[in-house]
Order: sequence, then C-alpha cells, then structure tokens
Amino acid sequence: MFSAEVLKQFDLNGPRYTSYPTADRFTVGFTDGDYATALRTMARKPASLYVHVPFCRSLCYYCACNKIISKSSTIADEYLTSLAREMDLVAAAQPALPIVQVAFGGGTPNYLTIEQLTRLVRDLEARFDFLPEREQGVELDPRFLDAEYVAALPALGFNRVSYGVQDFDERVQKLIHRFQSFEQTAQAVQATRAAGIGSISFDLVYGLPIQSRESFAATLERVLSLEPDRLALFNYAHIPERFKAQRRIPTDTLPSIAQRTELFLYASERLVDAGYQAIGLDHFAKPGDPLAVAHGNATLRRNFQGYSTHHSTDLIGLGVSAISNVNATFAQNSPVLEAWSERIAGGRLATVRGVALSRDDQIRARVIEEIMCVGCVDWRRLGADYGIDAAAYFAPEQAELERFAATGIISHDAERLVVTPQGRLLLRAVAMVFDAYKNVKREQAVTYSRIA
Ligand code: SF4
Repeated sequence: MFSAEVLKQFDLNGPRYTSYPTADRFTVGFTDGDYATALRTMARKPASLYVHVPFCRSLCYYCACNKIISKSSTIADEYLTSLAREMDLVAAAQPALPIVQVAFGGGTPNYLTIEQLTRLVRDLEARFDFLPEREQGVELDPRFLDAEYVAALPALGFNRVSYGVQDFDERVQKLIHRFQSFEQTAQAVQATRAAGIGSISFDLVYGLPIQSRESFAATLERVLSLEPDRLALFNYAHIPERFKAQRRIPTDTLPSIAQRTELFLYASERLVDAGYQAIGLDHFAKPGDPLAVAHGNATLRRNFQGYSTHHSTDLIGLGVSAISNVNATFAQNSPVLEAWSERIAGGRLATVRGVALSRDDQIRARVIEEIMCVGCVDWRRLGADYGIDAAAYFAPEQAELERFAATGIISHDAERLVVTPQGRLLLRAVAMVFDAYKNVKREQAVTYSRIA
C-alpha cells in the first residue's frame, strides 16, 4: 500500500465524477430554452428517469444533499402537484417516452405516504411509457418505515431498494445526529425480502467522527449478517463552508487521511473476503449481481446515482435541484423549492444552469467514465471512435501520467492506461488528470448526491 506521504501528494478528494463536466462547472448561460431544445431533439430510445423527493424528517449533520427538513404532509402534496406539471412539460416535448430505468432519491422518498408515492408513480406512468423490463429503485430510510409500506412497493413496480446505513456505532450516530438501530435496519431488510424485492443495496460511510478500525469492523460484521446484494462505501467529505449542517460536526473528531485510508482498505478487504466483488471507486456487489456482471464485461456506466448498468441512456431529472443529461447536455433545476415550483407553475422548465458538451468535453467524459468504471482506457478504441490520435490529443497530460506511473498508481503505454489494484483508492485523482476544467475556479453548485 502507498505511504501516507504518497497519498498526500495526490488529491484523494477530487470530484466523484458522476458527470463530466462536473456539476460545479455548469453555468447560467445554459437556459430552460436550451434544455427544451435538447428534449425536443433527443433520440427516441429508452431513457432513465430520476425523481428527487427533497423532504426529510430529521437532519443528519454529515448531509450534503439538497433537502428540506419538515414534518408537514401537505408540503409533499403541493410538491407532487408541481412534479405532475413538470412531467407535462417534458411529455409535451417527448410524448410517451419509453423508460427503462427509474430512480427515486432524496431527501427521503419514504417521507411520502404510500398514497402519495402511489400518486407519483401513477402520474409518471400516465406521461411516460414504463417498459415492463424496467429497473425501478428507491432510496428508503429505515427509521421511518414499516413492513406495510415496503409490502406495497412491488405493486408500484419497485424491484430495487437502497438503504442508508452509514454506521451502526451509537457514539458515531450521536455525533452525526442519525439514530438508526441495527434492529430497524434488519426489520426493513426482512420486510423487503418478504415483499419479494430481490435487490437490496446499503450505503455505508467512512471518515465519520470517531470512527476507528475496531468500531467500523463491528458495523461491517452486522452489515454482512444482513447480506445486502450491493454496498457503497462512501468517503465522507467534510466541507462545512459549503454544507451548513456539517458545521455541527467537530473537526477534531474526524479521522485523519491515513486513518480514513486504513478504514477503506480494511472494509474493502473484508468485503472481498466475504465474497463481494469490488467495483469502481467505492462499490461492492455479489458475483452475479447485474452491477458485477456489467463491471466484468466493461459495460458499467456512471451517472448521478453512482454506478449504473444502463449505458447510453438519456436521463431526465424531475424535481427541485434534479439534473438531466439529455442529448449531450446537462441541465440542472433550481435548488430552491419556491423558485422551482413558481417556474413550473408559469409553464416553464425550471433549469437554472447547465452545459452543452463540446466535442472535447465528450472525449474527456468518455475517458473519465472508463477510468471511474473499469479503471482502464483503450487508446486505440477511443481513437477509432472519435477519429483522433489519442497519444497526440492527450500529449499535454503525459508528464502527469508519468508521475502516476512512477508511483505505481497506473500502468500506461501506447495501447492502454490501466489503474493498478492499489491505485483504486486514487481513481478520482487519475480521472482528474483528464479534467480540462480542474484549474478553473469552480462555481458554487448544489448537489443532490448522497455524499459530496
Ligand atoms: S442524509 Fe439523507 S436522511 Fe439525512 S438529512 Fe440528508 S437527505 Fe435527509
């Protein structure tokens, strides 16, 4: 493994590259009119939908999501009315668009009552063509869930569930203000399996206050006893100047870079020992899981929800702060609830920033996605696909790549770049070599991803 000094030389906390350009490069020059044009002119092929439900009942201090803490249920009814109007605006450009993948994220999608969730699904089905083979997933918070709620999900088309776990240690939970017992999570898992939902995913977070190898090992053993199909092991990024809730976490309780590295490596080894396959930056899946299969045959993709098995699909984001990726553009909705709903009520899409990808953006997006997904770039294939001499095109990056190669993070020749097994921890840093915007000052953008 690399020494702490080596790790310090490279940026462990680069962007997660759920998109390229990253969301903080989107600009206000890209308008709702640009997004409407992209929608009208997109290819008629199966697309993905993301629906953002921004409400939560309780604030987790580590949170970097776009969320609204509330106890009201009428706020959700009003939100669903605006969402239906937004669906109308999209459907006017693309009537009955076929949908192969649907994801509900937040916030907390199960903030919605089952009646509200049913209304939302029916509203979507009325405007889009939900393909029978679609993958339909939802992020659920086990703290606010009962077996009856979970039992109703399959009839609404849900076949995947993702549970936020983070850490089962009560001392850690107190410092992050998220009290979630093992029993609550175990009951949620049991209810999910009893409902016949065959894919369960867990989100864990390392780098949280006072986490130690011993405490995280105990969490991992309890997690493994529940046998999730997939796991994500997110690195907590402490950016209190950007995410207000994080100011309540005392900085001196956070593990150092070396400790975080140790936590990740320990967890990674334990999960592989337990039979999971390591995938990309921070995901693990049982062999045979579609994510593991896609990783094995190099068809894995990356989008705002993390890793995906659906390649080459356009993504339509609905709801406050949601990001769409349509026809080589990114378009982000207003992150402010009132501004988003007023725009929609006025009959306009709620885009406030975005970007139309240049050819250079598209080439770099492909390289970065391949690094993040499979840790390998085939220069000849890239050159053939884009009609470029890849070596000449990326000549300015060569010196930087040599530095990575000299440290054993990558191997690199005229045919391909390959991230070494120990280099996995530095995938973001390798990807960043190809980020043409890395030295340009970032705009402040609101994220809806679970961990910054
Ligand atoms: S971490 Fe999830 S549940 Fe907690 S406040 Fe953020 S969005 Fe809500």
